[in-house]
Amino acid sequence: MTQEPDSALSPQHVAPASSGHVYFIGAGPGAPDLLTLRGKALIERADVVLYADSLVDPRLTEFARPDAEIVGSAGLTLEELTERIVQAALEGKQIARLQSGDPSIYGAMHEQIVRLNAAGVAWTIVPGVSSAFAAAAVLGVELTVPEIAQTVIMTRISGKASPVPQGEDLRSLAAHGATLVLFLSITHIARVVQELMEGGYPPETPVAGVYRATWPDEEILRGSLAGFREQVRAARWTRQALILVGPALAEIADDDRRSRLYAGDFSHLFRTARSRPR
Ligand code: SAH
Repeated sequence: MTQEPDSALSPQHVAPASSGHVYFIGAGPGAPDLLTLRGKALIERADVVLYADSLVDPRLTEFARPDAEIVGSAGLTLEELTERIVQAALEGKQIARLQSGDPSIYGAMHEQIVRLNAAGVAWTIVPGVSSAFAAAAVLGVELTVPEIAQTVIMTRISGKASPVPQGEDLRSLAAHGATLVLFLSITHIARVVQELMEGGYPPETPVAGVYRATWPDEEILRGSLAGFREQVRAARWTRQALILVGPALAEIADDDRRSRLYAGDFSHLFRTARSRPR
């Protein structure tokens, strides 16, 4: 393959004020080889590469041209960063803005896009592997298991500086009994567990935590809701961890309801049961 698909190259958004272009690129959960080929091609051609130092592996910037400007964004506020992007784009530069995981999940995209639109700067989003899916892979689970869970809720617990809209509090989401993936919530583990149990998950509900999925220092915890607070405290995780909750998280070999799917007594669209226990 010598060329990227056209959609990676043509502006999605019309009437640009300059020939500059901003690519928001999902950098994946950590391991550099989880970057998409499209993301890599755009880093290779960029004039400016911006990346969140603590969440994106600096090795991804090695794909950049030797003369490209590389900017770590950890020391900048979102406003400062966005201003820098706008200025570079108005100078006609191609900008690769690397975001952790997939940009559409807690990526502060909305704030950045409003500012780019106001300045007449064209932009494109390139998807990436969210840490939610990296965590599921690391755990070896399917988040949607037939008859067990067919819904995945991605959310966070509310905080003082980050309230969640009405109707999205953990207690009401817990009432669905679906698979829940909690971002940005590990420091509130006591409240997470309490609200999920009050909302209706039984204490024995399977839970898993993944710290720095796909990084060399990745760690995993598995347990049930009732004891999970102590497990997280003992592990001393305070950042970059996901919490996954729900019956789908049970380890595959431990769950005979799931293996029933593949047993002879189970009917579905393509197979008729030989005999059905009464
Ligand atoms: N857009 C990102 C999420 C950014 S919000 C994505 O799609 O993954 C930052 C939060 O994401 C962290 O607090 C943590 O909850 C989660 N996170 C990001 N990378 C992670 C990783 N490698 N392992 C576990 N959790 C991660």
